[in-house]
Amino acid sequence: MIYFVGAGPGDPEMITLKGYRLLQEAGLVIYTGSLINPQILEYAREGARLVNSATLELEEIVEQMLTFHQEGGTVVRLHTGDASLYGAIGEQMEELERRRAPYTVVPGISSFLAAAASMKKEYTVPGGSQTVIVTRMEGRTPVPEKENLASLATHGASMVIFLSAGMVKQVQEELLRGYSPETPVAVVYKASWPDEKTVRGTLGNLEAITREAGITRTALILVGDFLDKTGQSLLYHREFSHGYRESQDGS
Ligand code: SAH
Repeated sequence: MIYFVGAGPGDPEMITLKGYRLLQEAGLVIYTGSLINPQILEYAREGARLVNSATLELEEIVEQMLTFHQEGGTVVRLHTGDASLYGAIGEQMEELERRRAPYTVVPGISSFLAAAASMKKEYTVPGGSQTVIVTRMEGRTPVPEKENLASLATHGASMVIFLSAGMVKQVQEELLRGYSPETPVAVVYKASWPDEKTVRGTLGNLEAITREAGITRTALILVGDFLDKTGQSLLYHREFSHGYRESQDGS
């Protein structure tokens, strides 16, 4: 069998039990070298073949997975965070389907969830934005015109920007077309790693704080009032009843 496994954000304990078990069973592990914590590879069994996908093209990756699978081995394709976000997993799955190879996807903790944990914040504060926009600045990979940062910014929603720490000046300019300069921002570098670094500020000084911290990659930019707000959820409010609990006054 071939398994796509989300390795989590970096901390080797932030992989699922299923992913951990599959890693122990696999004879071939293909991993994204630039972002996978090498400590996670230590879960692989003795003698397993470990291949860094950074040096491979799509065809070579698929070829290696298929050959190993046809010989009866278990293959783990490790992606950072969760494979459904900016992981280019789609093209690999398509290729496997074309060749009628069976595969399974095991989810992981995305870095944007680890970033909220590091900041000790909730993206959906009661009374605040109830929407999280997960996006990126356009780079070599195009972003559809309707999804440019400036127009997404007009919603005032909680926002997480991937793959854009190296273009922070542009990010700031675009966002200022929708959010006010006082909007709280945070930049989270290597969430959950030992060398994690976080900085906070306002949108008006996003570029400055990122530059001062020396952050240029492997970071997420978080934007929105949720970084300052706390609210009380109706879910736990005394006068609010729901399916599991009667309120104090029986309403
Ligand atoms: N699938 C991954 C994202 C891969 S794209 C996930 O779910 O997290 C790579 C980008 O993800 C990086 O450029 C950075 O923006 C972000 N990233 C990945 N790991 C990170 C981490 N531990 N801390 C902060 N950002 C991270």
